[in-house]
Parts: sequence; C-alpha cells; structure tokens
Amino acid sequence: MPDLSKIAKAKGIEYFLISFVDLFGVLRAKLVPARAIKGMQQEGAGFAGFAAWLDMTPAHPDMFGVPDPDSLIQIPWQPEIGWLAADLWMDGKEVEASPRVALKKQLKAAEAKGYRVKTGVECEYFLTNIKGNKLSDLRDTQSKPCYDQQALMRRYPVIKAICDSMLELEWGPYQNDHEDANGQFEMNWDYDDALKTADRHVFFKYMVKTLAEQHDIRATFMPKPFADLTGNGCHAHVSVWNKTGAKNLFLDKKDKQELGLSKLAYDFLGGIIHNAEALTAIFNPTVNSYKRINGALTRSGATWSPNTVTYSGNNRTHMIRVPDDGRFELRLMDGAANPYLMQAGIIAAGLDGVYNERPPGKPHHNNMYAEPEKAKGAKKLPLNLLDAIRLLDKSKSLRTALGDDLIDAYVKLRMQDWHDYTAHLSEWERANTLDC
Ligand SMILES: [Mg+2]
Repeated sequence: MPDLSKIAKAKGIEYFLISFVDLFGVLRAKLVPARAIKGMQQEGAGFAGFAAWLDMTPAHPDMFGVPDPDSLIQIPWQPEIGWLAADLWMDGKEVEASPRVALKKQLKAAEAKGYRVKTGVECEYFLTNIKGNKLSDLRDTQSKPCYDQQALMRRYPVIKAICDSMLELEWGPYQNDHEDANGQFEMNWDYDDALKTADRHVFFKYMVKTLAEQHDIRATFMPKPFADLTGNGCHAHVSVWNKTGAKNLFLDKKDKQELGLSKLAYDFLGGIIHNAEALTAIFNPTVNSYKRINGALTRSGATWSPNTVTYSGNNRTHMIRVPDDGRFELRLMDGAANPYLMQAGIIAAGLDGVYNERPPGKPHHNNMYAEPEKAKGAKKLPLNLLDAIRLLDKSKSLRTALGDDLIDAYVKLRMQDWHDYTAHLSEWERANTLDC
C-alpha cells in the first residue's frame, strides 16, 4: 500500500483532506497536516457520524474515515494539499450504510462474476449569482442556447481553470460546451473503472464549485434550479469488461436488434429496467429532482429528461440510449445523485438482471417527447420523491443487492427530508387555496 507520509515528502504535500460523502451526497472532510497522516492512514480520521447525513445518533461511538491512498488527488490549484476519499468504519467494521462502502460491495459482487465495470459520467451544472437565484451571465438569453459559442467563451476563464486542472490530473478531458439551458455547462473526461469515476465525480463537483467561487460566481448541480430551463442531468455510460479490462463483454457486433449489445448487456439492461422505478429514489434523490423528470417543455423545446422506463438506440428521448456498440447511456440520474450510490445502484440492478436473466423487452424508436403513446404499456417513473422512496423501501431485489442496512438508513433519512419539505407552506398553496 502506498505510504502517504512518504508521498507527502516527495510531492511537497503539506496537508491532506480526508473526505467522505454522506448519504445525501454532502462532501465532508478533515484537513490534516502531513505530520499526522501516518497514523490517520492506519486508524482513520475521527468523525461524529450523527453530525452528517448518516443514520446514527449522538450515542454512537466515533466513526473513522480511513483514506484510500489510491484515490489521492494533488489539488492542481493548491498543490500543497492532497485530497483523499475515505471509507467509513465504526467498531472495527465498515459502515454498510455509507456510499463508498456500498459501491465497493457492488464492485466485489461484480468481480466475483469476473466482471470489471467501467463508467463515465456527464455532470451538468449552472453558473449562477452567489445567491443561486439568477444566472451569472445576464447576456445568456438565447431561446436555444445549446453550444452557444458567445456564452461559452464569456465563461472561458472558469471553464479553462477547470479543464486545465483535469488536464494536469490526467483525467483525459476532451470537450467542454454550453448546454441546453441558459447558464448551463458540461465538461467531459474519459470513462474508467467505476470507483475511479465515482471518486473523480466527487472531486469534480468540489472543483467546479471552488473554481467558480474563485471567479465570484456560484456553480450548482441542483436538478432543476430554474423552472423554465432544462435541468441538470448526470448521465452515466456503462459497460462491463473482463477482469483484465481488455475485452468489452457488452459488445456483440452480431446483435439481432442491431444495437451492438451482447446477451450480458441485455440482461444487465433488463435489471435496470426491472428496478428503475425503485432506483429513482437514489438516482433522483431530492424533492427538486421531480421537477426535472416528468418536466414540462422548457424554453429550448425539450426537457432532455425521461418520464418512462424505456430504452432505444441512438435516441435521446428515452431513459436508456445505446449511442454506440458495446455500451449504454442511462439518462435518468440528475446532478443531486450521490456519485457512489448512483453507481452502486446501477451495478446492483444490472447484476440482478444478470443473475435472473431479466428481459429488457423490445427497444422503442419513437420520439418520446412528441409521440409518447407509441411506447404504450411502458412503465412510468414516480412523480415525486415520496412515491420513489416507498418503491425503494418495498424493492426486494434492491434490498437483496444493496443490503437492508443501507436501504433502511436511506429510506429513513429521505422520509425525514420529505416530511421537512411538506411542513413548509408554499406561495402556490396560498394562491390556490386561500379562496377555497
Ligand atoms: Mg448533457
């Protein structure tokens, strides 16, 4: 195992951020001077679990974040700091109901079948004012702003700072663009092993927010920050490879449906289709998420988000798109999805499909926005967080795959979140109920 103390000396690292992501996706950390990293690498950094979004009480013992040295990222804009993703431990055991531990459990299950899961994520975000209630760029007003060069280049300083960082970290960034909503951007880097992609996803969100702050603006991954604009998706591209990573097991050029997918890929897809409604509680985890999926038409003419459980070829109006041979793109997740839980959910559902040979049904090739009736009989996605939480709670296959500890903790905390939301009176309620 790499010795972080030695690495600190060799790379000039003065501090380490030992960080973890809680069940609601909040990134938390301790800033540890290099002199203390030797002990922390073995014992972990201590945290009070109750203070984060984890199902714990103040009576629980200390929780420890044990850093994974393979996740080390020397922060490009502060090279004296090394960022580390940590796994949570308590009482000498890994905390099952914690996101990174949950993803590692799924990867182990995949490994046991000889599979190596590779993923890529597309994290959309808005650049807003500091309060987050208006776009940062008041000139960004086109009704179809996707790929708008003028608006993209007005934000060149911050986009360049982010992309330069990814280049330095050798993530293989390859394109940056203005997305479909005013003020919205997306940056893409190479796909990789699922855990590496998840760690990078966590760091990407931190990086984008931090570098935006340095430019006196705010970056948000909120699923639907503006009602009339396209929301922030977080699409994932998924493929399963053999152990060495040399052979794509999803690839079959002789696929009769001409999507270039193997039987393994269809089984995996069948698992996603089978579990999609329950997975929505993980993939679309906030009250706000449901304003993106099932959303009304936006100013640009499309929401770019699904409302039914369907798959297709290279057609963006369905929940699952097969853009190329040997992989598929899952378009359900939004910017609030927990980077570890979303991948744990994908793999858990996919493996459930493989174990049970779940049929995904036939692909649909209609325009789902204009002619949804052509996918008659397709399952609908939940309309709100409450329905989604209840479906997750009842899902036998996800309970088997992800474990009762995780599902119970997640359902409990999200249900509290829902109750907190419903306790608030909205202006809409007043306007529509005062004269009842
Ligand atoms: Mg996009």
